[in-house]
Amino acid sequence: MINTIKKDLIIEGKTKKIYSTKNPHEIIIHYKDNLTSLHGLKNKLFQDKGILNNEITTIIFKHLHYNGIKNHFIRKENNREQLCYKLNMIPLEFVTRNIVSGSMSKRLGITEGKLISNGIFEIFYKSDKLKDPLINDHHAVFLEIISYEELNFIYSVMKNINNILKKYFINKNIILVDFKIEFGKNKKNEIYLSDEISPDTCRFWDKNTKKKLDKDIFRIESEKNIDIINTYMEILKRLHEN
Ligand code: UDP
Repeated sequence: MINTIKKDLIIEGKTKKIYSTKNPHEIIIHYKDNLTSLHGLKNKLFQDKGILNNEITTIIFKHLHYNGIKNHFIRKENNREQLCYKLNMIPLEFVTRNIVSGSMSKRLGITEGKLISNGIFEIFYKSDKLKDPLINDHHAVFLEIISYEELNFIYSVMKNINNILKKYFINKNIILVDFKIEFGKNKKNEIYLSDEISPDTCRFWDKNTKKKLDKDIFRIESEKNIDIINTYMEILKRLHEN
């Protein structure tokens, strides 16, 4: 399908391109096939990965909207693109963890797989130059990125999102190990969930086998053995099942 409302490229990131539209309050998000890790040091193309992540994010954002989570998604435009509200993005990555893995496992020397019963929230400062350091609330406020009140609001939204998504995924035989989300503000200064939620930004484990069903197979395995597309298709297949 040809996109008729897309105008100019505003910015191109590692995995997405953002375009303006005729409406100044709306943007087009285009999902690329690049998969990156180590802050972009490792960057590889996986044909049609962008199509899968566009569809997976669409399903999840619709589900969150249905459950009362305000987010930027308006509609899917075509297989690689979504129409979304234009927001003033908050330069923080918010991570929610239900099971110890990844950087938390390394940083604290805890074996991967330990259950975190009430979930843990972490904040990373989005800065390629600084390699997205882990910071706390006080740093974020000191950097004048956000207020304590806004942080508390975001934590309450994160708790809701985690509860909604944990339940949603377990019904698909998927354990939501951890995930990263981003937020932005609209003209009225209301905070909306933004960006994407996909196997690029979440850790998913199969409920029965604990097999990894996300970008970790790219982070960990030698590139020869990985099968990103089949793994992401497996996630999409399960999301489509009732
Ligand atoms: N994550 C992400 N983008 C990033 C860093 C992390 O989407 O730039 C996601 C990652 O996929 C995982 C969660 O956030 O689901 C926690 O990642 P972690 O801090 O363990 O970092 P990593 O393993 O990427 O070093």
